[in-house]
Amino acid sequence: MELLKKTAIEQHKALVNKEISAQELVQASIDRIEKLDKTLGSFNSLTVESALKTAKEVDEKIAKNEEIPLLAGIPLALKDNMCAVGTKTTCSSKILENFVSPYDATIVEKLKQNFVPIMGKANLDEFAMGSSNENSAFNIVRNPYNLNKVPGGSSGGSAACVSSSEVTLSLGSDTGGSIRLPASFCGITGFKPTYGRVSRYGLIAFASSLDQIGPFGRSVEDVTALYEAIAGYDPKDSTSLNEEVGNISANLKTGAKGLKVGVIKELLADGVNEDVKLAIENAVKTYEALGAEIKEISLPLLEHSIGVYYIVATAEASSNLARFDGVKYGFRAQDCENLLDMYCKTRAQGFGPEVKRRIMLGTYALSSGYYDAYYKKAQQIRRLIAQDFARAFKEVDILVSPTCPTTAFDLNSKANNPLEMYLTDIATISSNLVGAPALSMPVGFDKDEMPIGLQIIGRNKDEMTLLQSAYALEQELGIYTKRPNI
Ligand code: GLN
Repeated sequence: MELLKKTAIEQHKALVNKEISAQELVQASIDRIEKLDKTLGSFNSLTVESALKTAKEVDEKIAKNEEIPLLAGIPLALKDNMCAVGTKTTCSSKILENFVSPYDATIVEKLKQNFVPIMGKANLDEFAMGSSNENSAFNIVRNPYNLNKVPGGSSGGSAACVSSSEVTLSLGSDTGGSIRLPASFCGITGFKPTYGRVSRYGLIAFASSLDQIGPFGRSVEDVTALYEAIAGYDPKDSTSLNEEVGNISANLKTGAKGLKVGVIKELLADGVNEDVKLAIENAVKTYEALGAEIKEISLPLLEHSIGVYYIVATAEASSNLARFDGVKYGFRAQDCENLLDMYCKTRAQGFGPEVKRRIMLGTYALSSGYYDAYYKKAQQIRRLIAQDFARAFKEVDILVSPTCPTTAFDLNSKANNPLEMYLTDIATISSNLVGAPALSMPVGFDKDEMPIGLQIIGRNKDEMTLLQSAYALEQELGIYTKRPNI
């Protein structure tokens, strides 16, 4: 059991040194999921048989003294909006409740090539829309640090299962912060790579110009290893970046001397919780002590990012979700009078309230007569925000801020107030709008022992500097070894 709480890299060493077998490790993960998941609700479904089969293959390789990939045999969970052949992919929605994927997402193919046992599908906000995981049609997810608090969303299940050591690694998707926010609330590390670095083929689309898949882990080394396993050009995704990923794992330990760190002024202003502010200031001081140069950076247009996001994301979602109409796949309403009635009833019964709200907002923003006023204007401001970032990155190598102005909030405390819920993403959304890589890592705890996350944003395509600087800080702070008492 103790081994389950270790990092993937430590587990890899234990496997190679034959201190434990991959089958024992996967079985320990199954036992822990059985023990905890009724309470936590991290998983929508489990695939333990195929995970044990993969583990057996890894053990056979080890027995023959064959070299195994770094993440072979390490238990992992997939967010339930990623297709894996023969398994249910529900997006935590009634409309896809019984949908079985006919093919593997590119990331799943890559995990299989690396002999990574996939333990199951992690719960999420319906269609990845939300910040608390309370929008799942099936089950809420609870925060492993305090069961009365939310784990963050939308990848709440993916974060809770890693934080609670049900599994060691997981994948999430991030459209406006859905990897970083739950990582921050659950005290682990979550990383959204540059837009296009990781193939979206087989990820059920929310907002195609913003969506990006990325890793969750308990250390920077772990998320780097998982990122490297899934990143790279994919001809099946037309927005995939056709550029070298580079060997970051081998170059992580460069330190922070001479690093130029920009502290985003607007994200440390009023409204940020005092404990969060102190932890971020402490992280910045730590960078300074490590030899980094600190600069305050102003991003004046940041305040418009939420407005821009809720036009762009809902517009794209309204188009992407048009395919769920009861004709091709998924749920179909019964007792319909004609085709139109079938469309209407299927969508009325199949989608939850938040998804409907987004479809209506997006359809409105794209409707003729309003397009110029909303969608076009939002895209123009998006461009200006990107220019702000480009200017900032002439002066500094990374930008830092709190991942969220607060720590995890109580279950049900914002569920009936969508606007307040949307504001939790104030710090994370802009990196999706500009395509930049961004990470959240634990840097402290508030007075109630809830984790605090630091966000680090990098230059587009410069995952190397971002991960190197995160590693330097993590090693100095040492907080990443903390686990919840669950
Ligand atoms: N919380 C944001 C939203 O509700 C971001 C979601 C995401 O990144 N998938 O849209």
